[in-house]
Amino acid sequence: MSVAPAPVETAIAELRRRLGDRLSTSDSVRDLHSHDESWHAPHRPDAVVFPDSTEEVATVVQVCAAYGVPVVAYGTGTALEGGVIPEHGGVVVSLQRLDRVLRVSAEDLDATVQAGVTHQTLNAQLRDLGLFFPIDPGADCSLGGMAATRASGTNAVRYGTMRESVLGLTVVLADGRIVRTARRARKSSAGYDLTRLFVGSEGTLGIITEVTVRLFGVPDTIAAAVCSFDSLAGAVNTVIRTIQLGVPIARVELLDDVQMDAVNRYAGLTHPVQDTLFLEFHGSASSVREDAALVQQIATELGGGAFAWASGHEERRALWAARHDAAYATKALRPGCGLWATDVCVPISRLAECILETKQDLRESFLVAPLIGHVGDGNFHLGLLVRRDDPREVAEAERLHDRLVRRALAMDGTCTGEHGVGTGKLRFLAAEHGEALNVMRAIKQALDPLGIMNPGKVLPP
Ligand SMILES: Cc1cc2nc3c(=O)[nH]c(=O)nc-3n(C[C@H](O)[C@H](O)[C@H](O)COP(=O)(O)OP(=O)(O)OC[C@H]3O[C@@H](n4cnc5c(N)ncnc54)[C@H](O)[C@@H]3O)c2cc1C
Repeated sequence: MSVAPAPVETAIAELRRRLGDRLSTSDSVRDLHSHDESWHAPHRPDAVVFPDSTEEVATVVQVCAAYGVPVVAYGTGTALEGGVIPEHGGVVVSLQRLDRVLRVSAEDLDATVQAGVTHQTLNAQLRDLGLFFPIDPGADCSLGGMAATRASGTNAVRYGTMRESVLGLTVVLADGRIVRTARRARKSSAGYDLTRLFVGSEGTLGIITEVTVRLFGVPDTIAAAVCSFDSLAGAVNTVIRTIQLGVPIARVELLDDVQMDAVNRYAGLTHPVQDTLFLEFHGSASSVREDAALVQQIATELGGGAFAWASGHEERRALWAARHDAAYATKALRPGCGLWATDVCVPISRLAECILETKQDLRESFLVAPLIGHVGDGNFHLGLLVRRDDPREVAEAERLHDRLVRRALAMDGTCTGEHGVGTGKLRFLAAEHGEALNVMRAIKQALDPLGIMNPGKVLPP
């Protein structure tokens, strides 16, 4: 008696007929798509597909839906909460071949790109037009993935996050229907805001294939500076006062002394090993001068040194490269360890309290964890360096992480400011959202009744 093939095998056979060699079941390709950059354990998918168009993504989803096979969207795999790990196997849909910038409108200050385009690729194409796309996570990730995780970066304090930047999306739903969530008008009161529903949904409601984003003109004057402080409280309070005074700062990033030491070692730099702010000002020459003078005055009153300026393009690039490489610099501090990145965000008025209590926890702990943050948004990360095979270290990381999230929630903050829920933050969602979590479950049930879209992510069981 012959045994019927499992649904996943039938689905893969059907997909192979349609996509040919743009479907892979090789060990190496499945391994490559079994993990993100997070701490979480990898898991292989059964197959990986590389569709060429929105219509082909829809076909893949329809076939998977017919056999009840999980579908996991994959941008560039840089996420930090395990969101892209196909925990239940199934088919990973790589958006890698959807890599075209479809249109740029200098007149309307917007662009539409396929989901696999990365933020650096988009910016390379915008440079000659005097435009830029400001959202800049430390990794060169896809705009589809950035929309899916509601990502942000160092510019968010001035230009917002993906929540503010995305004007509209093309999405393949769990039954293969293709929808466009909004037109290009800057305002609309026409119905529910589906764009914002899909932004941050981490592939659990549909697969984003096109993203329309806001662009900005490159400012006349850009000036970046580094400022070292004699105390962490002084650095954080400088940020709080700057934001509360409404100074339109473009970037303000905090690196504590441990992080500065790591960055210096990694990049061969010689910054003072002190709690430090990286700052950037955008505007006209006179507005930049005025804004910078005001922030320098605040910093001086709170124990900051004189700003060390990086005004030329190359100098600025080197300064921000050091900031963006902070995660790799952290990893290099304890080779062989996993990097467990935390991501709380609190209202700006509670930021100093949250950071200082967290540093006290770290002082009492045996783990090493540099602190870095997009502090202008109230968001900061610990890079907990943990040996996976040491249960004592894992337990201590869990304890510190738990205390940090509970502290942020008690301050009306969130467990994740920008990395998303994935699997890493599942256990905090009930505490953060209460009854609203059941509304999210109802939305999931309505849009993905078979539960095939990135199962096990965002919503706790
Ligand atoms: C060194 C480093 C620095 C980082 N710095 C930042 C930072 O400053 N700010 C920040 O926000 N993040 C940061 N990140 C995290 C990461 O880069 C972001 O989460 C990014 O948005 C992930 O994009 P991706 O294309 O790699 O998505 P992936 O990792 O491929 O996927 C992430 C999630 O989105 C889903 N997804 C991906 N593409 C789609 C799609 N087209 N449609 C539907 N769902 C999709 C996946 O299923 C998964 O759940 C950093 C990561 C690293 C390694």
